[in-house]
Amino acid sequence: MSAFSYEKSVQLDGALGRTGVITTPHGEIQTPAFIPVGTKATVKAVLPESMGDLGAQALLANAYHLYLQPGPDIVDEAGGVGKFMNWSGPTFTDSGGFQVLSLGVGFKKVIAMNEDTFRDDQVIAEGKDRLAHVDDDGVTFKSHLDGSMHRFTPEVSIGIQHQLGADIMFAFDECTTLHNTRGYQQKSLERTRLWAKRCLVEHGRLTDARSDKPYQALFGVLQGAQYEDLRRKAAKDLSGLNEDGITFDGFGLGGALDKEKLGTIVSWLCEELPDNKPRHLLGIGEPDDLFVGVENGADTFDCVAPSRQARTSAVFTPFGRVNLTNSKYQRQFSPIDDSCDCYTCTHYTAAYLNHLFKAKEMLASTLATIHNERFIVRLVDQMREAITTGTFYDLKTDFLGRFYGSKA
Ligand SMILES: [Zn+2]
Repeated sequence: MSAFSYEKSVQLDGALGRTGVITTPHGEIQTPAFIPVGTKATVKAVLPESMGDLGAQALLANAYHLYLQPGPDIVDEAGGVGKFMNWSGPTFTDSGGFQVLSLGVGFKKVIAMNEDTFRDDQVIAEGKDRLAHVDDDGVTFKSHLDGSMHRFTPEVSIGIQHQLGADIMFAFDECTTLHNTRGYQQKSLERTRLWAKRCLVEHGRLTDARSDKPYQALFGVLQGAQYEDLRRKAAKDLSGLNEDGITFDGFGLGGALDKEKLGTIVSWLCEELPDNKPRHLLGIGEPDDLFVGVENGADTFDCVAPSRQARTSAVFTPFGRVNLTNSKYQRQFSPIDDSCDCYTCTHYTAAYLNHLFKAKEMLASTLATIHNERFIVRLVDQMREAITTGTFYDLKTDFLGRFYGSKA
């Protein structure tokens, strides 16, 4: 037995959304769920204990960063990423594919890109001063830390992720951008399919070789940009792969996702995917995107945005995002958000956070991150609850109206 499973509970009326439970060797994840990101095996500025207290069910770390520093052998010797960082719950690692390619070609958050800007294969093909070069076997890239050269292949990524020891890992894929031509997307999709097969083979080999370790699940990553036929093909291809009995335990919905088409793309994928395996929407964490993702069948989500924004003094409230350095908070001797149950809002005032940010005190980042992570974790928890009680669409209308209302 693999000690990993997914069980669906309640289907959302008239849509692909659902609630369920993912079981891992380190505990269960009630889905839909938001998974906070601890890139380098730490959610910046916050204790793992605080992440547990604020309701995080699992944490996601990054294979690229942990490979460069401290190195996967050290994390392996420590007993895996969870034990290393003193987090006893489930963990995820992403494959490093997005990082080696995005750092190499310099594109920003995929969802922030506008597909109408331009199309050019050169953004990802052979280049002179780029930090990453892709070929059919893998990606050669330059470390952003010291400029040293490295190479990731499907086997290398899976090897690193087995050493990191997370409960859920992702297959190594080529993450394209919306700027690539359709021809390139098609070619890249086939490359990602062949890499997925190699990931499964290596995963099977390492699962046997490391049978003394807890089982690690492997999710296949679905690309295909904004093209319906390519997206559906990716979902069919990867859910149909079987390498000597080794299949994907779940799927990562990845790659270039234009915000306008996010729901449509997720629905194309989820219509093709088997109902009995979990689906993780990679790198998505804006409230409106989370509603769209949940409604269209995604089970888990990760994003650095809540913590990254918190460190720049941008915090969530039910009435939208606000900046705590604004002078209007100087004398607000009440919480950032009266309706929030987080540690920050139950112990500190907006005035105090305004002071900490202006004085550039480290505690500012800690308190703001706790609030933002709690806000997003709780929002997705509320969506789960609302699917169960049949009130998802009411929650969506209420929340989005309030959150974006003033800007609409
Ligand atoms: Zn709060």
